[in-house]
Amino acid sequence: MRVRRLTLGPLDTNCWLVDDGAGGPVLVIDPAEEADAILAALDGADVAAVVLTHGHFDHLAAARAVIDATAAPLLVHETDAPHITTPHGTGGALFGFDASAPEADRLLAEDDIVEAGGVRLRVLHTPGHTPGCICLEGDGHLFSGDTLFAGSVGRTDFPGGDMTAMRRSIGRLASLADEIRVHPGHGPETTIGRERRVNPFFPRA
Ligand SMILES: [Zn+2]
Ligand SMILES: [Zn+2]
Repeated sequence: MRVRRLTLGPLDTNCWLVDDGAGGPVLVIDPAEEADAILAALDGADVAAVVLTHGHFDHLAAARAVIDATAAPLLVHETDAPHITTPHGTGGALFGFDASAPEADRLLAEDDIVEAGGVRLRVLHTPGHTPGCICLEGDGHLFSGDTLFAGSVGRTDFPGGDMTAMRRSIGRLASLADEIRVHPGHGPETTIGRERRVNPFFPRA
């Protein structure tokens, strides 16, 4: 599996491009901003799907342009899906950003599989930052959105945030293997093992 990162937009959001490294189609995870940069990195490759880790404006501002250019379907967890189509719902209006996405083509739920060529990622529903946050896990990688960051977790003080749910979600991620590489929605990459040692939100043994 090949993983590429683009850090985009005013909040330095990570957009992840994932493919099988063998010429298969690409998954675009969180088309944050700067559609031109995303399309340049895709360089004409087929896009199997655009997947949102959650419905916040800083993870989807370029979704419409990327979908218009690639005809890819848009996938988001069923709980956040109703909020993505308006700047109010995405939280953008709160910060002066006019960011929204088209309606989702496929609603995701726990244990669903997202595929792109030889890539298979499993959906983990990890509420806390938003009610419909997901992580995508497979082949030794975890795309953790705004649930898990290196050394921290996503904020729970936005509308829909829930620290109790966040702790439960982090508890689930703590059951994953140490060697899994974590690709978060903001900031540097990490591993589950490193977070087990340093992240104060991880359950202590
Ligand atoms: Zn967010
Ligand atoms: Zn974010």
